[in-house]
Amino acid sequence: MLWGSVLPLLMLGLAVMVARPLRPPGGPPQPRPGPSEADRQFAEEYLRHFYGFQPERRRRAAESDEDQNSRLCDQLKRMQRFFGLPPSGELTNETVAVMRRPRCGLSDAEPFGDTMRWKTSTLSYRIVGRKLPISAWKVRKLFKAAWEVWSNVALMKLRKRRRREADIVISFHSGDHEDGSPFDGSGGILAHAFLPGSGIGGDVHFDAEEDWSFNSTGYSLFVVAVHEFGHALGLPHSPDPGAVMYPAYNFAPDYELQLSFRDVKDIQHLYGISPNFAKLVLKNPPPRTPDKCDPDLSFDAVTELQQELLFFKDRFMWRKHPQFDETGITLISSLWPDVVPSHLDAAYENVEKYVNVFFKGDQYWVLRQLSLQEGFPRNISALGFPSRIKAVDAALHFREDRCTMFFTGNECWRYNEQQEAMEGAATLIGEQFPGIPTPIDAAVFHQGFVYFFKGNVLYKYNMESKSVASMSPTNELLDCQKESD
Ligand code: ZN
Ligand code: CA
Repeated sequence: MLWGSVLPLLMLGLAVMVARPLRPPGGPPQPRPGPSEADRQFAEEYLRHFYGFQPERRRRAAESDEDQNSRLCDQLKRMQRFFGLPPSGELTNETVAVMRRPRCGLSDAEPFGDTMRWKTSTLSYRIVGRKLPISAWKVRKLFKAAWEVWSNVALMKLRKRRRREADIVISFHSGDHEDGSPFDGSGGILAHAFLPGSGIGGDVHFDAEEDWSFNSTGYSLFVVAVHEFGHALGLPHSPDPGAVMYPAYNFAPDYELQLSFRDVKDIQHLYGISPNFAKLVLKNPPPRTPDKCDPDLSFDAVTELQQELLFFKDRFMWRKHPQFDETGITLISSLWPDVVPSHLDAAYENVEKYVNVFFKGDQYWVLRQLSLQEGFPRNISALGFPSRIKAVDAALHFREDRCTMFFTGNECWRYNEQQEAMEGAATLIGEQFPGIPTPIDAAVFHQGFVYFFKGNVLYKYNMESKSVASMSPTNELLDCQKESD
């Protein structure tokens, strides 16, 4: 066994919780077993395919088990960093779950460079083969629109050809299709493309076994086409989770594709700026992925998750693990696919009930071990809020007191977690927490203090003296200064 003994981080967290004496209704969840042997083999194959890990090299170089393990561990850390996971180098259940998400078949470790572009800016493409998942005219229309996503911002044109040779040939295939990268049936790898060049260069292949419907179960052919066409034009995978060129497919059915600021910069770097771009930017500027070093950074919500702190912003989150200085950015949907919404209002963890609770508008979601509980989302009136309260700004859980404080405007509400009821009417935040301005964005316990977030200011609050201990920029906890970019 190559991996040695691994203790999944999630299990570590659970071990702490299981030790608590009080048994909640339903009992504690059973700790999940660690990755299976099949998971380990899958992970090794994944790293070989996407991160250049080559186990066969060892026979040639007479590599020791130890050396090979450390090489494997380094590649795993690289993968974990790429996906914003804690870079432990251990194969956790969560790492396996991220590896098993649908994705593009190209490597994440391939440096492309400036030379990977077509020499001409007018390119031709052809759609060939019979395995089209939808009618031919719909496919043509969809691919035309997907090319336009790129040609609207960069200086190049795409022309469709029916018969003659084309620069880019697009087709659907099942399983092995004789290019050295067989497809894997439903799920897993959705498509792949080849870098600009002659022959197979620039060609795009879609896995014909996927459900390319656009309802809640299938994948969006349009979204995947825009991503693959990016490769066909010369773009590598981006580690920016907001970019279309991010390798994982993490899109909700209602997702409306838009190139990110990073995608636009990257394609314009290769082909120059389209004359239409100025108009387009005014109408619909490409979204920037939030930057943890932005001095104006504010958060939607902050919560504990076992040993970690999670900072939410739009459809992204940063994860701060006590063992690692690095805090990676990832999509909320990467940890909770299709469950936890973006643009949250508030979140908290109740370790005694083994649940995480998320708020957006008048709805709330309760998750246990990363899974949504039955009957959720529910209206927040179920917690005892009067009908005039339409949303909460922040939530703060008190482990010792077994209660949760909700913040709405200048009011706070105390919720008794044992009785599952509000304790009386609202009180004023200004009286409960003197020195804290309202309304607040987020609140969380951390190292004996309450951290209140408002705009770009973080208030470290001492509960005993009922006073603000210090004020700092909101990103103080996100190791901004330690990274070079
Ligand atoms: Zn890709
Ligand atoms: Ca597949």
